[in-house]
Amino acid sequence: MKDMGWDELVPGAALFSFEQTVNYNIAEVQPEDRTYAETNSKNAYVGDWRVIKPVWNSEICIDCQNCWIFCPDSSIIARDKEMKGVDYDHCKGCGICVSVCPTNPKSLLMFNETEKNEDALAKWPEKKKKGESNE
Ligand code: SF4
Ligand code: SF4
Repeated sequence: MKDMGWDELVPGAALFSFEQTVNYNIAEVQPEDRTYAETNSKNAYVGDWRVIKPVWNSEICIDCQNCWIFCPDSSIIARDKEMKGVDYDHCKGCGICVSVCPTNPKSLLMFNETEKNEDALAKWPEKKKKGESNE
């Protein structure tokens, strides 16, 4: 982001999410096709302080969309009611998506940030029996 002079700042120093010149209905355009303003966090990698990350197991996922609804950072990628993955550029590693995942075993689990996703998937737990914790 380029430095702005005092006379370039807008009143109230508001940072707009989208370029002011967009000539389309933002609500009808998929997030990756929108023209974000330079100051929008969409254009910034903000996941560098995450120490644990959610890994998604597509083999178990039932596309319930709970994780998409509850993620406080819009970091669950879904299209047409199908889970597509995690946006690691913006995910903060809070673990809420894992908490709300209803499958057994869970389709999202937290792993160390340095763990490769394929290694995490190879360690996926078995289905829990009745009475055992599903965390
Ligand atoms: S860990 Fe938190 S920020 Fe990351 S995808 Fe899950 S709910 Fe969203
Ligand atoms: S909450 Fe779990 S089962 Fe539901 S869409 Fe997300 S990963 Fe899939």
